[in-house]
Amino acid sequence: MRWSQALLNTLRDAPQDAEIVSHKLMIRAGLLRKLGGGLYTYMPLGIRALRKVEAIVREEMERAGAQETLFPILQPAELWKQSGRWETMGPGMFRLKDRKEAMYVLAPTAEEAFTALAKNEISSYRQLPCIIYQMQDKFRDEIRPRFGLIRGKEFLMKDAYSFDADEAGADVSYKKMYDAYVRIFKRVGLDAKPVEADTGDIGGNFSHEFMVFASSGEDGILSCDTCGYAANQERAERIVQPLPYTTEAGAAEEVATPGQHACEEVAKFLGKPIDQIVKSLVVLANGKPVMVLVPGDRELNPLKLRRLLGGAKIEEADEATVLQAAGPCGSIGPVGLDLPVYADAALKGAADVVVGANKEGFHLQHVSLERDAKVLAYEDLVTVVEGDACPKCGKPLVIRRGTEVGQCFKLGTKYSEAFGASYLDETGAPRIMTMGCYGIGVSRTLQAIVEQSNDENGIIWPASVAPYQVTLLVLDTDNPEVVEKAEALAKALEAKGVDVFIDDRAERPGVKFKDADLIGFPVRVVAGTKGFAKGGFEVRRRTEKDSAIIAPEAAVDAILSLLA
Ligand code: ATP
Ligand code: MG
Repeated sequence: MRWSQALLNTLRDAPQDAEIVSHKLMIRAGLLRKLGGGLYTYMPLGIRALRKVEAIVREEMERAGAQETLFPILQPAELWKQSGRWETMGPGMFRLKDRKEAMYVLAPTAEEAFTALAKNEISSYRQLPCIIYQMQDKFRDEIRPRFGLIRGKEFLMKDAYSFDADEAGADVSYKKMYDAYVRIFKRVGLDAKPVEADTGDIGGNFSHEFMVFASSGEDGILSCDTCGYAANQERAERIVQPLPYTTEAGAAEEVATPGQHACEEVAKFLGKPIDQIVKSLVVLANGKPVMVLVPGDRELNPLKLRRLLGGAKIEEADEATVLQAAGPCGSIGPVGLDLPVYADAALKGAADVVVGANKEGFHLQHVSLERDAKVLAYEDLVTVVEGDACPKCGKPLVIRRGTEVGQCFKLGTKYSEAFGASYLDETGAPRIMTMGCYGIGVSRTLQAIVEQSNDENGIIWPASVAPYQVTLLVLDTDNPEVVEKAEALAKALEAKGVDVFIDDRAERPGVKFKDADLIGFPVRVVAGTKGFAKGGFEVRRRTEKDSAIIAPEAAVDAILSLLA
């Protein structure tokens, strides 16, 4: 390709709404253009890079035994009603009507459609295991679309689904997909770390997220540098350190705490450490109020409460509900309360703590939870933070920000049961299939590569996904020798399967150098009168400062070895 004929404009400045480096660079390098909020057009160079990521994903899916399919994006509402997600997906799912008033969705994911297909097409154990996938756009009405391709309203996802005869088979399929993901991210040059994850809205029982560390990441990842444990903050566990307030200090006693509501305020007012104040929360579990107690400096993790309560739906309670169930917000506590009470495990044995008195302006001190309250269970219920003890080895955990590029789920039978996806086993008895689902945000992955691989001059593409592997800058377009040698080199490289982008514009060398670095071609070759006077092409890797002079005869081999 020649720049003089390409639809390619680089920009000196990034648009106002580009907050992170990869978003700025994708726009400035002419790879992407914005169509609307969360909606982006791939320019010719951008789509080339995306197609290369897709190709690697496809190769590894096929290698793992998955078969490609392609489902419609526009899907009948009935499908989503059958799984129950028509109700539970909420406003994040785009819904629309056809001219006959029939309802449809723009698929945000595709468990329903794949399971319905498996129900119809798979009838015997002989057809199992079966892994099918598609590379298809997904739509989500994100609360905050931002960061370009990182969080779009429309994005490209590779989604795969496995169908197995039983749990053991599902474990094998999961492992195959997990291993394929490790290979994919390695091949696209992305450092993505698998971390334990919560199973969220999709449901199911086991999951890994593949995370790319980035300061702009929206997820917190707790990891242990000693033993390698890593988990999403939503999911992370800890070895609980019991609080030191285990000796009774007399009977519970009411103290006036006028105007003091937050735990920090009460602690300061009473001159006690913050973790001696118990944070009491009323939340709704399946619509019914329950009380949860956590140390004053900790946050409740609703997912952990949900697990403790057998998958109950956990929601915040409004002020009126809290008032009716316990007392005025900011002054509530478990003493004398007729509500189910659950406490974080750090509070086990707490015998001298402060709780709200269920009366505006009052707290109770010297409370022993064992003696004065009825706690149904002590469990790890808080969000793990940096410094908590690793659940595997006990060393302090550290927190980093990350962005999820892929996720593997063991789904169990949630969808196969809803759709009646069963098969006949060896004895002819019907059995329900066990499923897994596996997503990669392909467009997000593309931008994550840029986020991870850049410098002050621009993008640094890994050769495997670069829009073109080599850029050939023709500096003196009026010197026939230069032009002729450059043309010959481009031809020879293309014959070896290397993509070459020729910058044949009548621009100053400085402009060409800047653009080559901004776009980030892995190898830059300069053809110019000066270089030829020194002996040949000036060849440089994007990551290096200095060029080497390479004789025209040796150039093809030298460039191939730089790309290898
Ligand atoms: P997130 O937590 O970032 O919103 P998710 O867990 O909701 O992602 P999944 O349902 O697991 O996403 O979808 C599979 C993959 O699709 C994700 O790992 C991610 O890479 C990608 N993805 C999800 N939402 C978006 C989006 N709005 N824009 C671009 N890619 C996305
Ligand atoms: Mg996910």
